[in-house]
Amino acid sequence: MNQKLITGLIAIGAGLLFFVLGEDDKKISDKPELEKELESIPDIEPEYVEPEQPKNFFTARSQAILSTCHPDLVLLFNEVLKEMDCTIIEGYRNKSNQDEMFEKGNSQLQFPNSRHNVSPSQAVDVAPYNKEIHGIDWNDTATWDIFAGVVKRIATEMNISVTWGGDWQTFIDKPHWELKE
Ligand SMILES: [Zn+2]
Repeated sequence: MNQKLITGLIAIGAGLLFFVLGEDDKKISDKPELEKELESIPDIEPEYVEPEQPKNFFTARSQAILSTCHPDLVLLFNEVLKEMDCTIIEGYRNKSNQDEMFEKGNSQLQFPNSRHNVSPSQAVDVAPYNKEIHGIDWNDTATWDIFAGVVKRIATEMNISVTWGGDWQTFIDKPHWELKE
């Protein structure tokens, strides 16, 4: 092997070495850039997703009873339902229904003096619905009071004036709501 060839091979080898190291240098110098880039990505808190609650709805029975009531009561309790599950117990009450209520002592008024006795009914009886017992818990006074608060707030927001039977002093009637005269 002559001197020139050896020199040539050394030169090629050096070139290759420089090329490889050069590539490495590039990779190393890119690294901080990548880190900077990653640092610039803001930490995003994983968004809290509220577990989906089953939507409240009125049964066909509740809807039918509510439809005997004044349109303001229909609007009001459809809004209330969105926030708190409830069930409609009574709307319009005819003479025989009112007589029965009076005889049982469930109403102090005789037909046609109850606000339930006009059509459409100026009064509606509504109870908070307890999903766990699939019905009305008459003894859960805390929930009844929360429910009353929700109805009063929404009624105010909707500019509908209502009186709650739960606020009466002589004959407390928690399911009862009537339009103010
Ligand atoms: Zn009533």
